[in-house]
Amino acid sequence: MMSADEQGSTGSMYWDGTAAPTRPHVDGGVSDVVVVGGGISGLCTALLLARAGRQVVLLEAARVGALASGRNTGKVSLLQGTKLSRLLNHHPQAVAAAYVEGNREGVAWLARFCEDHGVTHERRDAVTFAATADEVGRAESERRAALELGVPVTWRESLDVPFEVHGAVVLADQLQLDPAALVAALAAELERHGGRIAEDSRVVDVSWGRDPEVRTADGRAFGSRHLVLATGTPILDRGLYFAKLEPRRSYLLAYRGADELPGMMLSAGSTTYSLRDAPGGTLLVGGAGHVVGRGGSELARLDELRSWAETTFPGIVETHAWSAQDYASHDGIPYVGGFPRGCGRVQVATGYDKWGLSNGVGAALRIAGRILGSRPSWARPLERRITRPAAAASVVRRNVETGAVATAALARAVAHPVSPAEESDRGDVGRVGCDPRPVGVADGRAVRAVCTHLGGTLRWNDVEGSWDCPLHGSRFTEDGEVIEGPAVNPLSPAG
Ligand SMILES: Cc1cc2nc3c(=O)[nH]c(=O)nc-3n(C[C@H](O)[C@H](O)[C@H](O)COP(=O)(O)OP(=O)(O)OC[C@H]3O[C@@H](n4cnc5c(N)ncnc54)[C@H](O)[C@@H]3O)c2cc1C
Repeated sequence: MMSADEQGSTGSMYWDGTAAPTRPHVDGGVSDVVVVGGGISGLCTALLLARAGRQVVLLEAARVGALASGRNTGKVSLLQGTKLSRLLNHHPQAVAAAYVEGNREGVAWLARFCEDHGVTHERRDAVTFAATADEVGRAESERRAALELGVPVTWRESLDVPFEVHGAVVLADQLQLDPAALVAALAAELERHGGRIAEDSRVVDVSWGRDPEVRTADGRAFGSRHLVLATGTPILDRGLYFAKLEPRRSYLLAYRGADELPGMMLSAGSTTYSLRDAPGGTLLVGGAGHVVGRGGSELARLDELRSWAETTFPGIVETHAWSAQDYASHDGIPYVGGFPRGCGRVQVATGYDKWGLSNGVGAALRIAGRILGSRPSWARPLERRITRPAAAASVVRRNVETGAVATAALARAVAHPVSPAEESDRGDVGRVGCDPRPVGVADGRAVRAVCTHLGGTLRWNDVEGSWDCPLHGSRFTEDGEVIEGPAVNPLSPAG
């Protein structure tokens, strides 16, 4: 059976995550800044602060890069699918322009960092393409939005690829990189500047005094003047971020034997195909996204993506398959800044909607800027953003959906054991959170399949072999350890 660390890392082409921990144990104590979470947001924030001379401790539940930051597609681009047109639909132009500016800085920072620290990367065009005639309108809107926001895209009627393209928006000279190498280099650079990284250090509690203090599962206490929660989705319920975020999982397949693509590609439609190549004939295909714990069998989704890839690129040979999750904010703009009633001492960064490489660096620049007293000018419109009614309606809709699932789950919760095999046989969208049997048995060990965050009934994930919560995206190993999401406590044993 897999441990929580392995569970978060199986199968990625970049990193197998199984290496034994090499970092020394870090005792509790007091420092200038405690950063919780060793993904791109946490590492980058910690590094900027350590470079500025602050004493920084970074606490990571598993290994740095264990979740999305070490396992993504590695595209770093200002053209992000159809993001810019969606932003202009929901926000004033100044807010969308500030989003672009923050990402422009993020891309430039990463390009410099990769050059300076030998992180594998290549300059590539970014492409948003219309895979069907129906998608042409969306691609054209993206072209107009990008030009309105000062992003110098061009239009191509066709592309040299073995599938149908009805037109494409192209942005030259973006970046693709090896995300695991990036995470490793950020961690090494942080340690070189005196920052301390404590792995296997899951934070389970936060005290909100004048100087915040966190406590790890093994009882160590870390006090600081500033606390940064960069845990993917915030682990604290204050601010109700979990209710404003949608946790989305998607799948990546790596192949060998493919020809070069015209760039890092993303389709404009609601069925997403994300493609990029890597030197040596490697092809990455991503897609099949769904809300965590909803949308039926994960295996069926992965197989559908696999079948599309193998039909589209005949002769390719699969080398890796893996998945990861990220969080979308209700209005398309990441949540970055102070926690409510945190006296400006507790900062959060989340909601990147699968564009967390440049957005994570942007968040780090903002948070480090707040702590050091030099916020970037583009941060202000993002903080003052006024959401138009369409976006406000989407948060209400999301919570009505989640609330319906939660209410049904609680109403139907009666103890009755179920094996993972039985569970996966039954998966379908409508019943995800309405599971009437909230006790799970895996490998002879029974756990209460009820999320320790807010009591959602968990659903068995037949790709990862995990218990996934359809409410806010918490995931647990088959024997109940936390993998990710807002939950911090393991599942209770059944009985
Ligand atoms: C399939 C997929 C493909 C993607 N491709 C791209 C791409 O091509 N380009 C791009 O820009 N973005 C991409 N993204 C998005 C990007 O990977 C994420 O937005 C980004 O990595 C999020 O970084 P983060 O630091 O906020 O969170 P994470 O990477 O999730 O890191 C959070 C860390 O916090 C730790 N943690 C959580 N809880 C605790 C706790 N209680 N105590 C201590 N530590 C804790 C976790 O173990 C984890 O290491 C993709 C996402 C997915 C899912």
